[in-house]
Amino acid sequence: MRISIVTLFREYFDSPLKVSLVGTAIENGRLEIDFHDPRDHGRGPHRQVDDAPFGGGAGMVMMPEPLAITLEALEGSHRVLFTPAGAPLTQATLDRFATMRHLTLVCGRYEGVDQRIADHFIDEETSLGDYVLLGGEVAAAVVIEGVARLLPGVIGNPASTESESFRDDLLEEPQYTRPADFRGWKVPEVLLSGDHGRIAAWRHDQRRMRTAERRPDMVPEE
Ligand code: SAH
Repeated sequence: MRISIVTLFREYFDSPLKVSLVGTAIENGRLEIDFHDPRDHGRGPHRQVDDAPFGGGAGMVMMPEPLAITLEALEGSHRVLFTPAGAPLTQATLDRFATMRHLTLVCGRYEGVDQRIADHFIDEETSLGDYVLLGGEVAAAVVIEGVARLLPGVIGNPASTESESFRDDLLEEPQYTRPADFRGWKVPEVLLSGDHGRIAAWRHDQRRMRTAERRPDMVPEE
């Protein structure tokens, strides 16, 4: 899979792309990342990429021309713009992105991008959540990490992406490892029973209970 990142700050990605399984996925060619800097198409000797908003107001807006040239060169890819006004990113979004051959992630800065870019050069607008950040780079890092772990061969045991939180509209059940008795706090007895049927039933119950308790918004309407 190829992911193109449109950013004014490619140095932001120096370490996230090296660490752990994302680093390995890039090293062994399962994931290919390239960078595109709108400033290469900026205006004038200072390669200006932002300008004051029409109608007045605080802050600067990313100018259309440098982004348009950048995004035209990436036509044919699925172009995602990060903005607080986008659809909230979910596991379902990541599942869909992971099936794409070429994804483009557009990171805004300042007050965001000229609306005509969103209207004519973008396939989908995505938000990380109901809060405002300084730029889209952190959102791109989130998508890359979320997508990379779904690519074939990136995680050693593919079953671990099948039973985790947000699959089947459920959170994951609590997890325990050795020792069975830690400072007097014991692991639930059923997990030591060796009875796989009982364990599976317990896990499913826990997933349902936790979801109802912590995330009632995830429980489907009857
Ligand atoms: N003026 C905008 C915020 C701009 S923040 C507004 O009020 O909606 C600058 C850039 O950071 C945005 O263009 C976007 O790319 C990124 N950004 C900020 N918050 C984000 C969020 N919650 N999700 C995704 N991207 C975000």
